[in-house]
Amino acid sequence: MNVLSSICYGGDYNPEQWPEEIWYEDAQLMQKAGVNLVSLGIFSWSKIEPSDGLFDFEWLDKVIDILYDHGVYVNLGTATATTPAWFVKKYPDSLPTDESGVILSFGSRQHYCPNHPQLITHIKRLVRAIAERYKNHPALKMWHVNNEYACHVSKCFCENCAVAFRKWLKERYKTIDELNERWGTNFWGQRYNNWDEINPPKKAPTFINPSQELDYYRFMNDSILRLFLTEKEVLREVTPNIPISTNFMGSFKPLNYFQWAQHVDIVTWDSYPDPREGLPIQHAMMNDLMRSLRKGQPFILMEQVTSHVNWRDINVPKPPGVMRLWSYATIARGADGIMFFQWRQSRAGAEKFHGAMVPHFLNENNRIYREVTQLGQELKKLDCLVGSRIKAEVAIIFDWENWWAVELSSKPHNKLRYISIVEAYYRELYKRNIAVDFVRPSDDLTKYKVVIAPILYMVKEGEDEKLRQFVASGGTLIVSFFSGIVDENDRVYLGGYPGPLRDILGIFVEEFVPYPETKVNKIYSNDGEYDCTTWADIIRLEGAEPLATFKGDWYAGLPVVTRNCYGKGEGIYVGTYPDSNYLGKLLEQVLVKHHINPILEVAENVEVQQRETDEWKCLIIINHNDYEVTLSLPEDKVYQNMIDGKCFRGGELRIQGVDVAVLREHDEAGKV
Ligand SMILES: [Zn+2]
Repeated sequence: MNVLSSICYGGDYNPEQWPEEIWYEDAQLMQKAGVNLVSLGIFSWSKIEPSDGLFDFEWLDKVIDILYDHGVYVNLGTATATTPAWFVKKYPDSLPTDESGVILSFGSRQHYCPNHPQLITHIKRLVRAIAERYKNHPALKMWHVNNEYACHVSKCFCENCAVAFRKWLKERYKTIDELNERWGTNFWGQRYNNWDEINPPKKAPTFINPSQELDYYRFMNDSILRLFLTEKEVLREVTPNIPISTNFMGSFKPLNYFQWAQHVDIVTWDSYPDPREGLPIQHAMMNDLMRSLRKGQPFILMEQVTSHVNWRDINVPKPPGVMRLWSYATIARGADGIMFFQWRQSRAGAEKFHGAMVPHFLNENNRIYREVTQLGQELKKLDCLVGSRIKAEVAIIFDWENWWAVELSSKPHNKLRYISIVEAYYRELYKRNIAVDFVRPSDDLTKYKVVIAPILYMVKEGEDEKLRQFVASGGTLIVSFFSGIVDENDRVYLGGYPGPLRDILGIFVEEFVPYPETKVNKIYSNDGEYDCTTWADIIRLEGAEPLATFKGDWYAGLPVVTRNCYGKGEGIYVGTYPDSNYLGKLLEQVLVKHHINPILEVAENVEVQQRETDEWKCLIIINHNDYEVTLSLPEDKVYQNMIDGKCFRGGELRIQGVDVAVLREHDEAGKV
């Protein structure tokens, strides 16, 4: 579902922070900058409904009309991101409670309990009023439901939530005996006789039952999703043809976005990579993840910043050209929209030092607005990209429930971070310009040749069978250490790790040896010696062959990386955290075997992705270096540079430092 037929370009617009005369100036500046969509009214509940049941839309009517007159469409907020002060005064128990029983106050934002009954009825009334008011306005192109759900309050521990949790558990487990069995409550004498004895996992003397904690993650995710679905139901009824979305936050742990994405019409997300980190690899990884949530459907980058944020300890701005470069890097991985927080930099409030498209002081030569305008005008030339896709033959398994489980307390290694292990594998593919999708283990894997499962600690019922079928039919499955350990309730698979994956991998893991942070060991493979850190598995072979062995410690000489033939494919197990050199070589060998090649051979720090339809392909090449690079394009092809419109035959191509090329392929005759 495309929102516009062009690349969406614009940002959050908060006109209620400004006098009316500024609205006209804003609309003119937007027009000049090539803005075609703004997100409006996200935090406007107290302005739209200044007192209980009294609605004031006059100001918003005027703003939307002004925008529309200037060719700017509206991604209309449902205004539910901040409950008004009058609401909190009337319903003080709507404030959320943290795990220690502390009630969070009014005065910032997102101060609500997701299970508060009157919150839900008030949201329904507000959203219906907004939808009815604007359902026929030609400016309305999309709904922006709430804002960054759960970003500050991802869990509430109040009495409303306790009641809802018990109901949720009863639906899931049916009997208290089943719950006791699933949660392993015979341990530490935690057995329950009836549902009313169960509470949210509040602060306790020591480690809380991990199965209970895991279910609380699921329950809170479901509670917050229910809030979204409440709004969606109203919007769908009143405006059946307007796309509905809510802005995700990439690798945001509390919400299972694979689950959420099934309920939005288009994925939108907010990305704020820190310029201090250099190459924006995690930003790329999140773009690939967000694109994968709805199986490759293009997404919209709903928020990024032009220059600097205000919420880090030190807020470094993006150097000249970098905002443009990273915007193209986002489009290269499947974005059909580039949006910002926010349009005009606020004068007051907590985000007044957060960068914006129009800074506090604007004149003709302002760098930020100049870059914003340049990008806006360029993106107008890329209409053809809208709806085009990215094809990947490699997939990385990413599973939110696994993430929750693997980072619960009381593990062999309590500093393992799921994202960083995923990123270690992703990084090697990123550096080699190999397109990657993210999948759940329960997804259809048949379109991929290589599937990587970093720390697949939790294997839920049926998931092992999907992986087994994938390997049996010729795929390569790469599994990292600490995988195949527990079921969906965090109960260990008995009979040898990696549990249900054991036959695919042809090994069993007898012991874990987690490493202190400073410990480095070596591993030998047939082409050299490499470092490894973090973890060692004591592996016994059950049909697999060793690809590398440990050099040091009491398990020296034992296998660390193994390969097992299974059906027409193979299962590779990596029983440590090897250095980048080893991981890169291992992946390269697998890629070569499956004839998976980089999209283009390029210099270091040059990112290449390809978007395509059934009819054409378009290369997007991003030079992250601050110097010029030269690359060679196939000479039998003719390319059109979409930014300057020029056509040229393949061969040598130079790209300036911090610059980009968007090249649509034509055949010999110059035909698309
Ligand atoms: Zn609550």
